[in-house]
Amino acid sequence: MALVVQKYGGTSMGSVERIRNVAKRVAKTYDAGNDMVVVVSAMSGETNKLVALANEVCEFPDNREYDVLVAAGEQVSIALLAMCLKSMGYKAKSYLGFQVPIQTDSAYAKARIEKIDDAKMRTDLKEGTILIVAGFQGVDQSGSVTTLGRGGSDTSAVALAAALKADVCEIFTDVDGVYTTDPNICKDAKKIERISYEEMLELASLGAKVLQIRSVEFASKYNVDVHVRSSFNENLGTMVTKEDKDMEAVLVSGIAYAKDEVKIAVMQVPDKPGIAAQILSPLSDANISVDMIVQNVSEAGSTDFTFTVPQAEFKKALAITQETAQAINAKEVLSDENVSKVSIVGLGMRSHAGVATTMFKALAAEGINIQMISTSEIKISVVVDAKYTELAVRVLHDVFGLSK
Ligand code: ASP
Ligand code: MG
Repeated sequence: MALVVQKYGGTSMGSVERIRNVAKRVAKTYDAGNDMVVVVSAMSGETNKLVALANEVCEFPDNREYDVLVAAGEQVSIALLAMCLKSMGYKAKSYLGFQVPIQTDSAYAKARIEKIDDAKMRTDLKEGTILIVAGFQGVDQSGSVTTLGRGGSDTSAVALAAALKADVCEIFTDVDGVYTTDPNICKDAKKIERISYEEMLELASLGAKVLQIRSVEFASKYNVDVHVRSSFNENLGTMVTKEDKDMEAVLVSGIAYAKDEVKIAVMQVPDKPGIAAQILSPLSDANISVDMIVQNVSEAGSTDFTFTVPQAEFKKALAITQETAQAINAKEVLSDENVSKVSIVGLGMRSHAGVATTMFKALAAEGINIQMISTSEIKISVVVDAKYTELAVRVLHDVFGLSK
């Protein structure tokens, strides 16, 4: 007998019909002799509706009340699922976040889980009750409702699995698992059977659609094996887990891309100590996160300084940088919104040389110019003209043998 945590997302809970299906799946796992904790999201579209209501009522909704509002969707789905299971003859009980309790900090709309008290759940589990817990929500020290950020039910599930030392954490979603790249771009994309936490975090731009990033960080910290799989079929999905020898043997596990970054270049900056900090600190003061940074070799005492920021912050970042550029006597600020970042990710890169060369040659053969490069131990990213995004992804998917 095992303790199983299952999480069903909004699409899986999207209608009464689908909730009945979820109940059947839960019942089947329970009947096989397992203890069950089930975490659910709001029915698909419901959280968006609540967010829209908040924005209709006022321009800047109060943070505390915002969380009370958006947590409501999950209250509906836990009740419906519990009712459904009870009508099928099972012992089931719904839990709101504060009833568990799932203790968080008070950062409304992006709260972090601090502690989960498992005492009440243990008692219920002992009596053979199936627990249905509201995802996405918790309670802070003062007793106020908090939420964990969009997609936060994944994190609720992983955190509950960690707290209960569950044997498995299954995340049921509307896709079969994590793919080697976006199947919409590359029809040869394959489902990955096992992937390390670290790679999963690096593949964020693909994975984020499947798993909330924070849930992966949580899983990694507490060593929770997370099985991402479809609620619409019985296929095995992707296991997100601790790295092992087999994973090291794979050179590249996946190709990610991001179209939501823009490039800003400060031209002819005087090349002297402190300039990089002078350009970047006003941006970090404004809470703008800078991703890639490149500084050219200097020529005649000046250099070019280029970086990327999220598209959403572009206007603000450009204005700030133009001000700095004047202050430091740079020649001008150039910007390009039509860029995208394409990355290859794999644990195997740690121990194999030549991966970068293969990547750059493959792009060159297609006439794709590389504008910026950044590397980490297990990832190489390049910035290219946005119109080559799909081509670059496909070419790299092929050259690293992922299409086979
Ligand atoms: N219902 C919340 C959202 O739509 C949480 C979740 O689905 O994980 O973001
Ligand atoms: Mg989700």
